[in-house]
Parts: sequence; C-alpha cells; structure tokens
Amino acid sequence: MRDPKEFHFKLPAEGRPVDAVIPEQWYPGVRDCWNKCSTKRIYHPIEGIRAVVIHATAGQSSAGAVSVMKAGKAGFHWLVPDEDEPQHGKLVWACVPETLAAWHVRNDKSHPDVNDGKNKVNHWSLGIEIVNRQSVNDPFSDWQVRITAQIIRYCWAKYPNLTDIVSHAKLDPLRRTDPGAGFPWEWFKELILQPANIPEDIINTPVAGMPDDLDEDI
Ligand SMILES: [Zn+2]
Repeated sequence: MRDPKEFHFKLPAEGRPVDAVIPEQWYPGVRDCWNKCSTKRIYHPIEGIRAVVIHATAGQSSAGAVSVMKAGKAGFHWLVPDEDEPQHGKLVWACVPETLAAWHVRNDKSHPDVNDGKNKVNHWSLGIEIVNRQSVNDPFSDWQVRITAQIIRYCWAKYPNLTDIVSHAKLDPLRRTDPGAGFPWEWFKELILQPANIPEDIINTPVAGMPDDLDEDI
C-alpha cells in the first residue's frame, strides 16, 4: 500500500477526452446549504480550474457526508455512494455547482508540486468525496473507483487547464490522510488514462429516477 500523501499525477497533454458524461443527480435539498459551504470563485470558472482533489469521507453514508455540508463545515462537488447504498452502481450525487468554490481544502494549504504552490486551492479546484471509512475493513468498491475515474475524465474533457489529480492528504499532510492507503491509486490512474478499461455500462448508465423512499431529510 502506498502513502496517500504521495497520491498525485499530472494529466498528459495528449489524450484529453473529447467528451465524457457522468450519471449524476442533485442530492435532495442540497442547494439550501450552498451559501454555507461554498463561495464565488476568484478565478474563471472554466479556465481557472487546475486540479481535482480526491477525498474519502471517513464515514459510512452519503447522508452523513451531506450533513457535514449542511452544518457548514465543508463542501464538495460530487459524492460517490458506498456499496450498501441504493445509488451505488447507478449514480453519483452532485452537491455543489462546479461554478462555485466548494470548501474541501483549507485556504492556507498548498503543495509546491501542484499549481506552483498556490494556496486557496478551493478556488482553482473541484472536490470529489468518496463514501468510505478509510479502514482495512472497508475496501473501495470497483464501481467507486471506476466512477471516480469517469468524473475525472468528464472534468478533463471540460476544463482546458486541468492538470493535477491529487489527494487531500498531499495538500494537507499534517491533518488529513484521505482517500486513505486502501485507495487503489495506480489502478485509478490507469482507468483515467486508458479509458478502454472503463466498461460501457459505467459510461452509458442512464441516470435513474429518484428512488421512492428517498426524501429530503435522509
Ligand atoms: Zn478530504
């Protein structure tokens, strides 16, 4: 297992996807907390995006992760459900609009390898949270890794200056270890750079309707 503080690679100049889609749906009611967990970007919302930061929740559920957003403690753009949730294998939750700077990395954190060591990472990045306890008893599912890779391909197609794919642990090594040593970083990187490894059913899964039993206060 590798140290998550080393999880980082740069997207090559060649191989940018022309287009890539993700099965995403807004988390119910989430827009009510955007003012508590995101800010207007200080850079251009398309050209200013330089990095995607990979996180793991250290919790057990999407609802738990969203409750942190609702409490105004953190924000992120996408949330990848855990394998025991009904959305697993079907869709990822969109949580904060890509045009806003979600609060997923502290403003004073930075790394010299990433965007020339600039701080205020949230303003030039997008954040993905994967629901995972970061323990040996909770491996990431194949689908979680594949769909996160597909989100990166979507971003790579959309943001012309996107270069760095990096762990939260690398940007904030004294406070954070996510996405954790159990995240298969090399395979993840391969999936992004060699899309033939992402099965058609991941790329073309239609977005399912909202399950009947899901309401706004989960
Ligand atoms: Zn994190």
